Amino acid sequence: MYLGGIEAGGTKFVCAVGDENGNVLARERIATTDTKTTLSGVVDFFKNFKIEGLGIGSFGPVDLNRESPTYGYITSTPKQGWTNYPLVQTMEEALHVPVGLTTDVNAAALGELYNGAAKGLDGCLYITVGTGIGAGLVSQNRLLQGLSHPEMGHILLRRHPDDDFEGICPYHHDCLEGLASGPALEARWGKPANELPVTHKAWEIEADYLAQALMQYVLIVSPKKIIIGGGVMKQTQLFPKIREKLQKLLAGYIDLSEVKEKIDEYIIPPALGDNAGITGALILGSQVLKNKGISQF
Ligand code: ADP
Ligand code: ZN
Repeated sequence: MYLGGIEAGGTKFVCAVGDENGNVLARERIATTDTKTTLSGVVDFFKNFKIEGLGIGSFGPVDLNRESPTYGYITSTPKQGWTNYPLVQTMEEALHVPVGLTTDVNAAALGELYNGAAKGLDGCLYITVGTGIGAGLVSQNRLLQGLSHPEMGHILLRRHPDDDFEGICPYHHDCLEGLASGPALEARWGKPANELPVTHKAWEIEADYLAQALMQYVLIVSPKKIIIGGGVMKQTQLFPKIREKLQKLLAGYIDLSEVKEKIDEYIIPPALGDNAGITGALILGSQVLKNKGISQF
């Protein structure tokens, strides 16, 4: 049985055909331009295969509330031409298969849970630190969904004493995303984040902000495992810094071996690397097919 998966991003749509275990058999990368051009490329790719279900992990915000008249839409994105776009409906009409939609980070969390670093657990938190910052949480085998999907990248933090950068979030200025995303690093230091030396002070400040965010996530949702991916985390020197700072911030309050002795196994990079999202999208495609259009997630 073939399933389809899409990792829908602001710069590219990664499309894959695979099986219900998230194994990728074919893939294609299509640039995100206008909706018509991009999605006709996507449909052409999938028409080469007899897929039976499709899962999409998308940039957002997206409307995931099945009771809502705009369920399945990309909603208030600033990305031109994609605002209030009925993504699920368009794909269902074009491909005649059940379509499941979730956020890009939720899909990555599913991928890591079923096939990656959190395999065998009933939940994990997946955070991306890239062009934006976002996170998806699975707890007790369900994706966390309330009025909407979580927006964990926009929390407020305590300022690092050496940081007077105003922040780049158009809504909140100095929220986590405004201070610690890839574009925030570039704006603060005047060069792309990948060009900053590993010994640069930038990484101390970055680790401080990410550790503060993790402290709040640990205290509020108590994730079974924390997986941090995204372009900025290619700076692997961040991992030991974040772990150490998180332990300092928590100050022994959370008395669990995961946070104390085994933190190296608790806060980790994605085992699936850049494939976490597409793997999760395929798994979502299989779930949506089993539930005849209604995903359990
Ligand atoms: P996106 O978030 O758009 O899906 P990425 O997760 O690759 O894509 O994140 C892109 C961001 O990550 C950019 O701001 C880029 O500067 C930053 N980035 C990419 N590679 C590195 C690196 N090796 N070190 C630090 N930052 C990086
Ligand atoms: Zn913000």
